[in-house]
Amino acid sequence: MIIFEKIEDLRAHLAEIRKEHESIGFVPTMGALHDGHLALVRRSKSCTGYTVCSIFVNPVQFNNPDDLLKYPRTLEKDIALLEQVQCDVLFHPSVKEMYPDEITEKYDFGYLEQIMEGAHRPGHFNGVAIVVKKLLDIVDADRAYFGEKDYQQLMIVKELVRQCGIRTQIIPCPTTREPDGLAMSSRNTRLGQAEREAAPVIFKTLKQIPEFLKTNSIENLKNWVTAQINESGFLQVEYIDIADASDLHIIDNHDFKGQKLIACIAVHAGPVRLIDNFQFNS
Ligand code: AMP
Repeated sequence: MIIFEKIEDLRAHLAEIRKEHESIGFVPTMGALHDGHLALVRRSKSCTGYTVCSIFVNPVQFNNPDDLLKYPRTLEKDIALLEQVQCDVLFHPSVKEMYPDEITEKYDFGYLEQIMEGAHRPGHFNGVAIVVKKLLDIVDADRAYFGEKDYQQLMIVKELVRQCGIRTQIIPCPTTREPDGLAMSSRNTRLGQAEREAAPVIFKTLKQIPEFLKTNSIENLKNWVTAQINESGFLQVEYIDIADASDLHIIDNHDFKGQKLIACIAVHAGPVRLIDNFQFNS
C-alpha cells in the first residue's frame, strides 16, 4: 500500500493509474478502523480495479470540541488492517493540507439537514459536505463507498453529489455489527464496561419496532423504545424517529402502508454518543 499525505502527489499517482484504465474505488474514513470500514474496502476491491482509502479526522464536522479531542486515533493499527485487506492507497492528509485557507463554504440541504442528526448536531452536515466534496474532487473516483450505519449522512452525500454534478457513483453498504448486534463504530472503544454491556439493547429494540407498530401509534412506539433503552440506567435516548427510507420524511401517524421505513436513533452512553438505524417494510 502506498501512503500519500499531499494532495498533489496523490493526484499525480492516480492520473497514472487511470492511464492503465483501472476504475478507482474510494472509501473515506476518519480512521480507528474496524470491520465495518474494512467491509467497505473489500466491497470496493471486489468492484473496482484500484482502491483508495482516506483517513482524516475532519475537525469541521465536530460540533462538540470534546468529541474531536477524544476521537480515537490509531494510525499504525489502521495501516496494518488496510494492508491485510490489500488496499492500494491510503491518503492521510494533515488539517493544513486539507484546509490551507479559512473555510467559508455553506451548503443548503433543506429538510434533510433540519431533522435528526442535523437538528441535534448544528453545522455537522455542512462540515461533512465540505470534506466529502473536497475528497471526492481530489480522488475523482468512479465509485465511493459509504455505510448505511450513517444513513442520513449517506442521503446528504447523495444530495451533495447531485447538487455539485460530481461524477463519482455513491454506493451504500450495509451496517456491520458486533455478534451481539451493536453497530460497529470507532466510538465503541470509548464505552465503559457497563455502557458496552447495555448497548446491544439498542439494536435489539429497533428490530422489534415493526411488530410493535402493528398495534401501536408512533407516539407510543417512541415512548416504548425510549423506556426499553433507558431502563438499564447506562443509556439515554436522544431521539428516535421513524421516517420514509427513500427521502427521510418523518412519519408521525399511521399513514404509511407499503412504504419502506427506517427507524433512526441516537443514544448517549456516558460521554459517548451512538447512532444506529433499522430498515423495514410497513
Ligand atoms: P467514519 O470513519 O465513522 O467517518 O466512517 C467512515 C465510513 O464508514 C462511513 O461511510 C460510515 O458510514 C462507514 N461505517 C462506519 N461504521 C460502519 C459500520 N458499522 N458498518 C458499515 N459502515 C460503517
